[in-house]
Amino acid sequence: MISARRVLGRLAYGSRYDRLPVGQRVYVRPGERFARQVQWRWRLRRTPVLSLEEYAATRELGEIEEFLSCMLCGEPRQQPLFEPRGDKGWHYHVVRCPSCGFLYRNPNVRPERLGDLYSSGYSGFLTGAYAANRQRRYQLTMEAFSPVLDQGEGRRLLDFGSGVGLFLELAEQRGFDACGVDLSPDSVERANARLTRARAYHGAPEDVPEIAAGGFDVITLWSVLAHLPRPLDDFQKFRDLLAPGGVLLILTVNARSLQLKAYGSAWSGFTKNHLMFYSSETLPTLLRRTGFAGVAYAPHYGDTIEAGTARMAGPLQWRLRRAVDATDGGNMMRALAFADEEAITRWGDGLKVHRLRRAGLPPVSSVPPAPSAPAGPRDLTDSSEMAT
Ligand SMILES: [Zn+2]
Repeated sequence: MISARRVLGRLAYGSRYDRLPVGQRVYVRPGERFARQVQWRWRLRRTPVLSLEEYAATRELGEIEEFLSCMLCGEPRQQPLFEPRGDKGWHYHVVRCPSCGFLYRNPNVRPERLGDLYSSGYSGFLTGAYAANRQRRYQLTMEAFSPVLDQGEGRRLLDFGSGVGLFLELAEQRGFDACGVDLSPDSVERANARLTRARAYHGAPEDVPEIAAGGFDVITLWSVLAHLPRPLDDFQKFRDLLAPGGVLLILTVNARSLQLKAYGSAWSGFTKNHLMFYSSETLPTLLRRTGFAGVAYAPHYGDTIEAGTARMAGPLQWRLRRAVDATDGGNMMRALAFADEEAITRWGDGLKVHRLRRAGLPPVSSVPPAPSAPAGPRDLTDSSEMAT
């Protein structure tokens, strides 16, 4: 199958694009983005929609797993689309909600067993190149939403899932009064070793009095969203922790990625510990239901393109940017969510802000009580986020 695909690619495009990283080819080969979108629509049309009972009868349930209805809209029906597999033997199933289009792993991991995914060796993945690439990615994202993260000027910042403190280090350099939380105790220890004023804590926000008190001007979720098994509870918590005029910054894999449409189960965003996959179509539901007032996006063209270090001819780079813009198909999603109208007024200038509710009105529906999920540690092995 792969060789047949390779032969087709060779017939269509010759060897002209062989030197580009695989993750970039789909954006620049002439006609490919149209073909992939047709292919995607065809996949959705021909894949059956099952009741949850029918679906559950076809899948085995692992010891730490549970079957879910759609977290965002409550729809129980399932459209089974993908079955990602890793070379270390893991595999899982990804379904699409036929009502709202949300992609999620089903069966999913039970929140109380989340720790099993991060049992050991999680902070051991730190080389100089890794840290430099990560920090470059943070800086590019901060620039994309300028000026909110340019200068801290003593504003309070919470990094949720702060890992070994690579972002907290940048935040303290920029003058934020910054702190972080993470589930992995050895990551927290490493973070505090590299930080001077900022501080990382082990546990969930409610376990740390200084954090539970709230009043944050900025909360950041760097590659954490896809790991949250109870996103509504967590986002309700984030909304409560934000001060008036506060913002929530999100970086996660993009479920509308053209690469997902092209590579399906082999998409780089389907990593071992990812649970749910968001896009600009589905994130607004999560934000609206938890009381946020607006959201803005910054398309992701790839770190090397944005940093000006890609080895790609100018016209091809232009074609790549155009393909990302036209399809909302970058491989990552970067979003800035605004807590309230004040936040939109303060930080929304120059951004295209999508309003989620009219000022003064309460959220569309309240969130049912459920056990809260702790902050997931960063996915340090996440190759998708290192790509391009
Ligand atoms: Zn749904």
